[in-house]
Amino acid sequence: MKTLRGIAASRGIAIGPAFHFRRADLSFERCTVEDPTAEWARFQAALETAREQLADVYAKAEAESGAAQAAIFQAHALMLEDPELLDAVRTAIEEQCINAEAALSDAAETYAQMLETLDDEYLSARAADVRDVAARVLRILLGVAESPTANLTVPSIILARDLTPSDTVLLDKSLVLGFCTAEGGATSHTAILARGLGLPAIVGAGPSVLEIPDGAMLVLDGGDGTLLVGPDEGTVAEYRARQAAATVVLARAREKAHEPAVTRDGHRVEVVANIGNVEGARAALEAGAEGVGLLRTEFLYLERSRLPDEEEQYRAYRAIVDVFGDRPVVLRTLDIGGDKDLPYLDLPHEMNPFLGLRAIRLCLARPELFRPQLRAALRAGAGRNLKLMFPMVATVSEVRAARAVLEECRAELLDEGQPVAEKMEVGIMVEIPAAALMADHLAAEVDFFSIGTNDLSQYTLAADRTNAQVAPLATGFQPAVLRLVRDVIAAAHAQGKWVGLCGELAGEPLAIPILLGLGLDEFSMNPPAIPLAKQIIRALTLEEAQEVAQAALKLDSPDAVQALVRERVPAANVG
Ligand code: PEP
Ligand code: MG
Repeated sequence: MKTLRGIAASRGIAIGPAFHFRRADLSFERCTVEDPTAEWARFQAALETAREQLADVYAKAEAESGAAQAAIFQAHALMLEDPELLDAVRTAIEEQCINAEAALSDAAETYAQMLETLDDEYLSARAADVRDVAARVLRILLGVAESPTANLTVPSIILARDLTPSDTVLLDKSLVLGFCTAEGGATSHTAILARGLGLPAIVGAGPSVLEIPDGAMLVLDGGDGTLLVGPDEGTVAEYRARQAAATVVLARAREKAHEPAVTRDGHRVEVVANIGNVEGARAALEAGAEGVGLLRTEFLYLERSRLPDEEEQYRAYRAIVDVFGDRPVVLRTLDIGGDKDLPYLDLPHEMNPFLGLRAIRLCLARPELFRPQLRAALRAGAGRNLKLMFPMVATVSEVRAARAVLEECRAELLDEGQPVAEKMEVGIMVEIPAAALMADHLAAEVDFFSIGTNDLSQYTLAADRTNAQVAPLATGFQPAVLRLVRDVIAAAHAQGKWVGLCGELAGEPLAIPILLGLGLDEFSMNPPAIPLAKQIIRALTLEEAQEVAQAALKLDSPDAVQALVRERVPAANVG
């Protein structure tokens, strides 16, 4: 048996065979063909298969994510009919006698480059679609499986160098028991997605992950970051027993998931969800969420080839808010940059993207991005409990500038006679140390704070959250981060403002007693973590939590903090 250690990214135990996630190799040899007519027929057969695949993908995407998200696959199907593209391929095959793979890639690349030069944002963004659809036909011509997990037939643990958020979305969840990556950090967005899906996961386990043979028996413990390769029967039995015990604790917590989180002495806090789309909204409600503390709106911008317009955004936000009725939903404006790139925006390459033109900085610099989103949010909030939050705020002037654009948008909409949210609470994420240190000034500018410990930890410790070599430093259990959290809560409360926390720390069983003791008002987390979080809060009195928090703040390391909570709060010592 071999033991690998990585970063615990998503709690839970998975037991099953290994399956490597490998991106398809689409390289081919350019050659001449003897029979161009047969080659053209081969190309047409590949086109027919591509059309069938796209119809299936459309149906799957529509069922999972709705018609708006699925529309891209209809657009791809239309491209397969494009006479200009098809003529270019036919000419190359029939007149130059080159193989279909070469003819197609030449024609698609020429077409994509031509689109990129057009002075029309919509059309130039279609270049990515042309390349994408050409890659689909190329895969068929080369006989390469459609998805890196297309050959996955038995429930398995996925191994990969790294998984992008889009890779994670494409995984067939019914066949994925968990995953382990060689690279990445616990608060990288891929790890966050795994938690949202309730999949046990380890990240940053090092390159030896890639040497594990396909099919090898694995035990993955997402709670402590251990991956066992080829465990003996006794070890498997031990982990199965732990898996079963955790299932019992969770089942008990789930029975009370829809009851409020009230401490034994009657102090109530809100337990809400971090979500990214309407399916997440439904799952959150089912998991016991009392609302949404963080709606990551990036979902509407990723996985596509052009910006969503105001109307599309309005419909998407409204659908999410409608799931929650009167309950609060905090919509975070676009947080692109860092490890979330939008290829179609063509942002300049940055040496340090996490310190670059990210989130509110980008939105303030690019009003054509910001305004449609603010207008859509204001419209979606009409008659609903929608709140707005700006990410990555570092200075008071940024808040003022963002609020000014918001007010301009509101005035515009009123002029147009559109229904808008009459009073919409506006808050900021406190996730940059400068904002935490200026919390007293910032509190005067907003209605609430939501502390983003994922970024606050990486910036406080100067440790990239996606870099496996340093990511373990960037944990919210660091006393330095906990001190900032304490001060931010105190500064907001001094001005009668409420404070939430939507970093991964809010759903960490061992952090919950500390955050409760520091006076946090709202805990926002991935939906599967909600039932247990409520159960931990119910097991404590506010005074007990305050004592744990005070003791934790005197310690000098994350390990010591976790050991303290483990010892003092048995209800938090799970998994
Ligand atoms: C955070 O930084 O804590 C946060 C919740 O935002 P994100 O993880 O999306 O950067
Ligand atoms: Mg953040």
